[in-house]
Amino acid sequence: MKYIGAHVSASGGVEFAPVNAHEIGANAFALFTKNQRQWVSKPLTKESISLFKENCEKFGFQTEYILPHDSYLINLGHPEEEGLAKSRAAFLDEMQRCEQLGLKLLNFHPGSSLNKISIEDCLSLIAESINITLEKTKGVTAVIENTAGQGSNLGSEFWQLKYIIDRVDDKSRIGVCLDTCHTYTAGYDIVNEYDKVFDEFDKEVGFSYLRGMHLNDSKKALGTHVDRHDSIGEGLIGKAFFERLMQDPRFDNIPLILETPDESKWTEEIAWLRSIE
Ligand SMILES: [Zn+2]
Ligand SMILES: [Zn+2]
Repeated sequence: MKYIGAHVSASGGVEFAPVNAHEIGANAFALFTKNQRQWVSKPLTKESISLFKENCEKFGFQTEYILPHDSYLINLGHPEEEGLAKSRAAFLDEMQRCEQLGLKLLNFHPGSSLNKISIEDCLSLIAESINITLEKTKGVTAVIENTAGQGSNLGSEFWQLKYIIDRVDDKSRIGVCLDTCHTYTAGYDIVNEYDKVFDEFDKEVGFSYLRGMHLNDSKKALGTHVDRHDSIGEGLIGKAFFERLMQDPRFDNIPLILETPDESKWTEEIAWLRSIE
C-alpha cells in the first residue's frame, strides 16, 4: 500500500499538522517540529504534544508514515568546531522533539564541507554526529536525504549515503529518503533509465534502508545540481515517471511526501497519485 502526503504547515503548533494533512486527503505527512529557520525554539508544551497525538489518532495517521524534517541551519558535517557543536546540539533537540511526539523518523540533509575539508572527512563527521545523537535518544531513526549536490552540499551520490551508513554504529536506526527532484538533478536519469538508477541504488545503498521518499517534479535539468521543485507533471521529470513509481512495490509502506511548490494543488496531486496506484 502507498502512503502519500505532503510537507504540511505546523504553524500555530505541531498539533495542526495532522489536521492540515487530513484536509488534503493524505495518509502520510511531513512537518517541522520547530521553526526551521531558527536555531532555538521554545520546547513543545505538554498540551501541544497530547493534541498532536490525539489528532494523529483521530485522522488515522500512523507514526511510521510521519516524516518530520529538521532545520535547514543544521550542518552535521560542519568543518569548524563551533558550527559543528551548534549543529549537533540543535540536531539532538530535533530528535528529542520527535521522541516526545512519539515519532519514529527524522529526515535531514547530510551536511556541507563548505569546501574546507575533503568529502570523506565531512561524511565521517556526519556519521559521528549521527552516532552521538542516536546514543542519547531512543526509538527515532535518522533518515538521510539525498541532495541535488548544490555547492558543497554532500549526499548527492549514492556512494556517499552508503559511506555514512557504514560508519553508523546502530544500523537499525539509520535510513535514507530519496527526493525525486534531487536524484534527477544530481545526475541520475530516473526518466529514461528508471531500472538502472534504482538497481544502482539497491546495489550501492540497498532498498532495506529506504525509509521515505520526497515526490517532487523538477524545474531544472538532469545533472544541473540545482534544487528547484515543481508540481507533479509540470516539470522535467513528468507524469510517466510517477506512474511507474506508484506501481512499483519497492515504494510500498513508506511515507511518500510532496514538497511541491503550489500547495493549492496538493489535494489534486495526491488524488492523481492514488488513481494510478
Ligand atoms: Zn526533499
Ligand atoms: Zn529540495
